[in-house]
Amino acid sequence: MASASDVLSFAKKHNAEFLDVKFCDLFGQWQHCSYPMDIIGEDEINEGFGFDGSSIRAWQPINNSDMLMVPDPSTVKMDPFFKRPTVTVIADIVDPVTKDLYSKDPRGVAKKGLAYLSQTGIADTCYIGPEPEFFVFDDVRFQSAQHQSFYQIDSSEAHWNSGRAEGTNLGHKVGPKAGYFPVAPIDSMGDLRAEMAKAMQAVGIVVEAHHHEVATAGQCEIDMKFAPLLTMADQFMWFKYIIRNVAKQHGKTATFMPKPVYGDNGSGMHTHISLWNGSETLMAGDGYAGLSELALHSIGGILKHGRALIALSNPTVNSFHRMVPGYEAPVTLALSQRNRSAALRIPMYSPSPKAKRVEFRCPDPLANGYLSFTALMMAMLDGIQNKIDPGEPLDRDIYDMTDEELATTRVAPKSLGEALEALEADHEFLLKGDVFTQDLIDSFIKYKRKHEIDPIRLRPHPYEFDLYYQA
Ligand code: GLN
Ligand code: MG
Ligand code: MG
Ligand code: MG
Repeated sequence: MASASDVLSFAKKHNAEFLDVKFCDLFGQWQHCSYPMDIIGEDEINEGFGFDGSSIRAWQPINNSDMLMVPDPSTVKMDPFFKRPTVTVIADIVDPVTKDLYSKDPRGVAKKGLAYLSQTGIADTCYIGPEPEFFVFDDVRFQSAQHQSFYQIDSSEAHWNSGRAEGTNLGHKVGPKAGYFPVAPIDSMGDLRAEMAKAMQAVGIVVEAHHHEVATAGQCEIDMKFAPLLTMADQFMWFKYIIRNVAKQHGKTATFMPKPVYGDNGSGMHTHISLWNGSETLMAGDGYAGLSELALHSIGGILKHGRALIALSNPTVNSFHRMVPGYEAPVTLALSQRNRSAALRIPMYSPSPKAKRVEFRCPDPLANGYLSFTALMMAMLDGIQNKIDPGEPLDRDIYDMTDEELATTRVAPKSLGEALEALEADHEFLLKGDVFTQDLIDSFIKYKRKHEIDPIRLRPHPYEFDLYYQA
């Protein structure tokens, strides 16, 4: 167990001048505050640092705003993006009076989820392996919806973007949906991804691969080796932080927006998940696709609660521009082995039982990892506890199905509004063990409706000018 004194000796070893304390807000954004190292001792680290909880989205009312961020010493690293040597820790949020974990702290939700997991006696470890995708652009304005609309930019034109900034067109361009995955100079992102991967390794992330993704305009993927749920949720915060900052250092901009370019693939975050007891996987067996009965029940849980889960794993209005047929993103909540059009795929690459896992393909990288990974695990536990039958798998191309055929499957929500309604109606499975609390669910839904759905709904979309200005 790491302690405050470990943070201090780590800081000393690296000649750190500042301690930067970070925490994740309800919507997945890291927040931070830095303190000069010469005023930091063990007491400061153990007791935590006060901050204004009313200035963090959807957290505390102004009349009850004092909150504490308490560093988790096991998360100590050097932060590579400060000029002055700065050591950093991830904090948990604590109520200064009761000293309880704050119910709307996503990291606290993940911790309570893991406590609940061991309390169920089903498993002791939940491993998560996410595949977050992202776009790198030269210029954010060129990609804006307004530009795409007025100039009818679709993927076939947008791919000239990266050549534009070079000043000349050297002819090595990725065609629409053709980014997966020719070598350089067609892939112009390799060196940048390598810099990102090196920065990840420096903070302890095990990188498994980096490659260009299918979409034309600089879409990339960097894969991290699976890790226990809380470790992975912390790593995912580092992942986004590193990608955004390394891109910026190179005069580029990176986005995790799920569908920035019309007419081309969006960015997903397929999430691989497995339950283990010690060194024994609970996923492998002799059922469909080499799964155990427990794994099949856990899939039953994901399918049953899938529409509600999507509110947490695809939490933006933009998320639903990605979840449409034809772009390798799921549109139905179906199970299949080797099928990339289904929401749940059972990867068949490795014959080893240890590699047996479920790939949930709905999530996108704007999900808050702490909430999205924990909710997925809770749905699986509910499926196991209630022996939920996952039903028949769907081993065919779902994009080829007619509307009538699709109507017989469990359809994924088509909008954030639909997903929030599903979460509103189905969240008992998340409240078990007080892992998620009613106030978190209510605040999340309320914030999304008021600050995202309504402001977009109330504005005329730029494309309406194309359709109606002269109509
Ligand atoms: N970009 C696709 C998605 O939206 C996934 C492509 C892939 O990884 N095969 O989920
Ligand atoms: Mg991948
Ligand atoms: Mg991918
Ligand atoms: Mg995948």
